[in-house]
Amino acid sequence: MEPTGGAQKWSAVARAEWDRRSRSPEFRAVERIESAAMARMNAAGHAEFAADELRDVLGHDDGDGAWKLAGRSSVYDAITRAVERGTLAAESDPRCLVVPRHVGQTTSGDTKCLHHREGLRYGAG
Ligand SMILES: [Zn+2]
Repeated sequence: MEPTGGAQKWSAVARAEWDRRSRSPEFRAVERIESAAMARMNAAGHAEFAADELRDVLGHDDGDGAWKLAGRSSVYDAITRAVERGTLAAESDPRCLVVPRHVGQTTSGDTKCLHHREGLRYGAG
C-alpha cells in the first residue's frame, strides 16, 4: 500500500489537464469523475458542481456534433465506483465531490463548501 500523509511523494498537476480528462471519451466514467474532482477541488478537498453539471461533464458527442448529457444514474454509478476505489470520500455526491487528503491536496481556493456546510472536514477517504 502506498504511504499516506507526510510519507507520500507529491507532484503538482495542472487543473486544466484534469478538466480536459474529465470531458474526454478516452477515459472511463469513474476516471472522468475523479478528474473533475481534481480539477475543481478547493483547499478542503471539496469540489462543488451546479445541478446536472456532472451530467454535462460525463456527456458525449451524439455523432452529429451535439453534446448529449450523461444519465443521472451514470453520474451516481461513477461516484460510487470512485468511493469504492478510495479515490473519492464517501460524502461525495453529484453536487460536491470530496477528494481524500491521501489522494490530492491543494492550497488553492477556500476551505468552505456551500453544499456540505455543517461539519465540513477534509474527506477521510
Ligand atoms: Zn462539499
